[in-house]
Amino acid sequence: MSEYLLATHGLTKQFGHHKAVDHVDLHVKKGSIYGFIGRNGAGKTTFLKMISGLSQPTSGEIEMFGYKNAQLKNVRSRISCLIESPGLYGNMSAYDNLAVKCRLFGINDKRYIENILKTVGLSNVGKKKTKHFSLGMKQRLGIGMALVGEPDLLLLDEPINGLDPQGIAEIRDMIFKLRDEQNMTIIISSHILEELSKIATHYGIIHNGTLVQEITKEELMQRCGERMEIFLDDPKQALPVLDQMGFKNYQVTDKNTIHIYERLDESAAVNMELAKAGVSVRGIGITSEELENYFLNLTGGACNA
Ligand code: ATP
Repeated sequence: MSEYLLATHGLTKQFGHHKAVDHVDLHVKKGSIYGFIGRNGAGKTTFLKMISGLSQPTSGEIEMFGYKNAQLKNVRSRISCLIESPGLYGNMSAYDNLAVKCRLFGINDKRYIENILKTVGLSNVGKKKTKHFSLGMKQRLGIGMALVGEPDLLLLDEPINGLDPQGIAEIRDMIFKLRDEQNMTIIISSHILEELSKIATHYGIIHNGTLVQEITKEELMQRCGERMEIFLDDPKQALPVLDQMGFKNYQVTDKNTIHIYERLDESAAVNMELAKAGVSVRGIGITSEELENYFLNLTGGACNA
């Protein structure tokens, strides 16, 4: 069986001529909090809808809990999602909204509902109608609705969009609690990498329907931390030299740049070895990067937004 709770293979969704999701191979390990990052229109919602069964892929494969293709129906009940705005009855209280959802699941238990309200921090809202809730409260109740039936995999589409820092912190604490106390695996999408940086253990970055990178939190922190940046005309020429010097942790980031994430005190030696090999270096230095810049660089720069 695959080491992943969820893996997609070439997953594609086409609307007319436009591929909203284009051959995506994404991998989510059990117990991870997977940050799914992409700008507006990148394909996040379309992808999550296919995972949750709300939309059929044009091609490709989804593998979940060891099942795929037609057998996926055996495990759909283990997934729950909050996609787009939570469907709440505005004239009803949080409790009554949950009671309606519970009834659909055959659950008729006051304590079950109270537990969910506690988990999402809405124990003391009483009979207040949800139409009078703040955005953060609505989002938390939406997540509470998704918790009915105790899913193993929770999909949250932009749950922190538009929330203030306090609201974001509340959602973050709740997500940690769900992972730690209920062993849930959670995919959470956002268009702001920075906002997920305190939550996610893994990241997938999607741009124009294509998954441009999957990266662990540790790798991301390392890449945004200090690094040696080398500017040169043809990075390909430099790679054999770096290999020969024993560098392993480096990346060609664009047609003129190489980033090295180790042995940062050896920039002079790198410069010298490259010169000896006849590779002309235009510049070399030590730098670090803001998370958001990292994301912008991967997805074509701020001016393409
Ligand atoms: P957002 O955060 O803005 O929702 P997103 O990353 O979730 O962005 P999607 O909603 O998945 O992006 O949209 C991806 C692309 O697919 C967009 O270009 C969108 O216009 C297009 N798209 C989505 N749903 C449909 C549809 N039902 N018919 C036609 N095109 C669609």
